[in-house]
Amino acid sequence: MWSYTHHEFTVHQIPALQDNYIYLIETNDVLACVDPAESAPVEAACGTLGRKLTHILNTHHHWDHVGGNPELKSKYGCTVIGPSYDVARIPALDQPVSEGDVLHLGNLDMSVLFVPGHTRGHIAYVIEDALFCGDTLFGAGCGRLFEGTPEQMWNSLSKITALPPSTRFYCAHEYTLGNLEFCLERVTQEDVVQQRFTRDSGRRQQGLPTIPGTIGEELATNPFLLPANEVFRNNYVCKHGIKDDPVSVFAHIRAAKDRW
Ligand code: ZN
Ligand code: FE
Repeated sequence: MWSYTHHEFTVHQIPALQDNYIYLIETNDVLACVDPAESAPVEAACGTLGRKLTHILNTHHHWDHVGGNPELKSKYGCTVIGPSYDVARIPALDQPVSEGDVLHLGNLDMSVLFVPGHTRGHIAYVIEDALFCGDTLFGAGCGRLFEGTPEQMWNSLSKITALPPSTRFYCAHEYTLGNLEFCLERVTQEDVVQQRFTRDSGRRQQGLPTIPGTIGEELATNPFLLPANEVFRNNYVCKHGIKDDPVSVFAHIRAAKDRW
């Protein structure tokens, strides 16, 4: 478990399953769990902290994000919050939320962003300078388009990148190195991407997470966000002979990654 301090709360990062991360948001009166893939590591972390779970926050309905809901709810009686679009697909959901909702968890104000693309109901949670984005934005990557269109995902990513560059993002998978390898092989060999690959490879060799990162760094090194950059886009469009607009370029890169 790794911990990160923000002004009003601490985030604990718990590795789960193969490559998932589960997060705990801790204040004096709140212990909220984001996307419990499974219950055992969350219960162990609660034990270590000597605390009971007060809330579960789900970003989307996939099993590796909601798997721990029923067990944790019955053990702690916590409130389960999740996307209103997926009421039927989120086990033990108590409080459906949508874009623009502001939740008050103890002293924490948390706002909800609707970020469809990976799934049709995917949401993200913003608290202060922290973003919990599930499978929408990854380190140097983005979620696969299981239920959404490239346009939806591009709009969702644009919502996320409109947050301040210093925002730390907590995503649900450790996929960074593979994404950077893809980027270097198929999209761009820019120095900033090479440097990030070297740094993040070092972290992984030491058994450390590459997450959280910042929105600012993603804007400079995430191949799925580069279509917003005009110089990059012009080069990419010429090289691949595709339509010159951010969504078409994004869709082309997403399709290349799916085949990679
Ligand atoms: Zn997912
Ligand atoms: Fe996932």
